[in-house]
Amino acid sequence: MQENKEEIKRKSQRETTASPNHFIRKLVSEDLKKVAQGGHLVTRFPPEPNGYLHIGHAKSICLNFELAREFEGRCHMRFDDTNPSSETAEYVSSILEDVRWLGYDWGEHLYNASDQFPPLYDLAIKLIQLELAYVCDLSSEEIFQKRGTLTEPGENSPYRDRSIEENLTLFEQMKAGAFAPGKRVLRAKIDMASSILPMRDPILYRIVDTPHHRTGRDWSIYPMYDFAHCLTDALEGVTHSFCTLEFTDHRPLYDWLLEKLDFHDPPKQTEFARLNLSHTVLSKRILKQLVERGHVSGWDDPRMPTISGLRRRGYTPKSIRDFCEGIGVAKRDSTIQMARLEFSVREHLNSAAPRAMAVLNPLKVIITNYPEASVEKITAINNPEDELQGTREVPFTREIWIEREDFLENPPKKFFRLAPGREVRLRYAYLVTCQNVLKNADGEITEVHCTYDPETRGGNAPDGRRVKGTIHWVSTSHAHDAEIRLFDVLFNVEDPMTSDPNSDFTAHLNPGSVEILKQAKLEPSLMESEGEQTFQFERMGYFIKDRDSTAERSVWNRTVTLRDTWAKTQTKAGRKI
Ligand code: ATP
Ligand code: MG
Repeated sequence: MQENKEEIKRKSQRETTASPNHFIRKLVSEDLKKVAQGGHLVTRFPPEPNGYLHIGHAKSICLNFELAREFEGRCHMRFDDTNPSSETAEYVSSILEDVRWLGYDWGEHLYNASDQFPPLYDLAIKLIQLELAYVCDLSSEEIFQKRGTLTEPGENSPYRDRSIEENLTLFEQMKAGAFAPGKRVLRAKIDMASSILPMRDPILYRIVDTPHHRTGRDWSIYPMYDFAHCLTDALEGVTHSFCTLEFTDHRPLYDWLLEKLDFHDPPKQTEFARLNLSHTVLSKRILKQLVERGHVSGWDDPRMPTISGLRRRGYTPKSIRDFCEGIGVAKRDSTIQMARLEFSVREHLNSAAPRAMAVLNPLKVIITNYPEASVEKITAINNPEDELQGTREVPFTREIWIEREDFLENPPKKFFRLAPGREVRLRYAYLVTCQNVLKNADGEITEVHCTYDPETRGGNAPDGRRVKGTIHWVSTSHAHDAEIRLFDVLFNVEDPMTSDPNSDFTAHLNPGSVEILKQAKLEPSLMESEGEQTFQFERMGYFIKDRDSTAERSVWNRTVTLRDTWAKTQTKAGRKI
């Protein structure tokens, strides 16, 4: 399986070096050479505050903020808060926190579409005055029915030719709350026969009877995405508006509105492929259902592909940025394998994470010839990849815990760990030889008795004899109990949304996405861990302390395994990685 890792590494390196030339970067670079643009780049990240951000948003965040940094422009943080029924202040603050955590700073450029409701309203009035918008009394079903299809033109609304005065009066009344939701809408007057569906008299404003998290009940009418987005871009002075491919058909409308409303040097919309990640879903709407139906513990459940979930899982901001840079920006949709994301965090943590020893499934070892009251301080290296991280002292005693899977009573030939009569190295400490095992009434091994060679302190034999296996350990009298949560993918199919169109996506939830180990034993230095520090538990993977920890008992999440064991099992199961 080394191949998989190497292949991913090669791909990642290739795309990292190729990424400076992705088509959006080229386009920006060309545009900035044009005098008309003033050589200035202004981008924006425009989330709708209707859920927590996910790794797909991270791709957009990195693209917009990194381009602004590279071309010495700026990136606006803007809430596209035009739909009060699904938006909340909680989502707003989580989004700001996540973008900041990823390492980006919008400075003073924090905006809300709702700040622009007054000028947007004035622009709608202007469109009416230009005879380019009208109030339509059709219901949403009727509008939909009369819209036509890709092969047939739509039908003009009977309200299309209302006079300017009548439209102004009705629109004013809509704003004043005179009508119930759905009774009337404001539509652009473009072309019901256009080959582009969004140009068939799209709705610009609708009536909504729900208080807005910022403007309360000030407004009874709310602009639609297509109307608000291009205009807030323009009002903020954005030069480049990057969005995902599903908006390609909306670009003519984006340009039409800016042209008719007489914006000079208007922003330019460019579409790129959204991020799709295997074995998960990247849609706030679906993620919200997972939360609401209790399939996960919350938006920040460590199995969720949300920024807050990945953070709680132990991902670092750098690993997410590297991932986004590595996958590049393309014009065609594709699906990135989960193994690729795991590769990025493993790469970063290998150099950054301090090492520690922890036993997940403990088995007691008694070193029978070791003095009973003795506690030795053994020096351990904090990070072999980074000398600056120094060393620490780990207490060694007569009784220790080792990993249950590191002992086999009847080992196969290539098992280099502990077995009757076999000698093994205890990491940083001594060579020990297994002399005996004790079992309970059920035949389970309860204790392993070993002898140690006092001449081998540090783990090397002075006579140069070869000992292949090295295992980790924790002193029983110094160990701290912990609960460990091991995670697997949330869905057991690559694309839960399309794998089986007849079934509910929850049918593909992986019932084994979390495994809890309650008996883990940690080396004492881990108790000093503060803040968001991911550790490498030697031989076991990367782990971070969870906020469910209490003073008595700590809880740890496994971020990722050391090697790509997940990819291995997936390949075995016949899935490509
Ligand atoms: P969702 O379906 O998850 O709600 P969305 O596109 O509706 O996604 P927004 O809050 O409107 O979410 O998105 C903010 C920005 O993030 C937009 O510019 C959008 O294009 C971008 N974005 C959202 N999902 C992805 C993705 N999977 N890959 C890349 N960019 C994305
Ligand atoms: Mg959306």
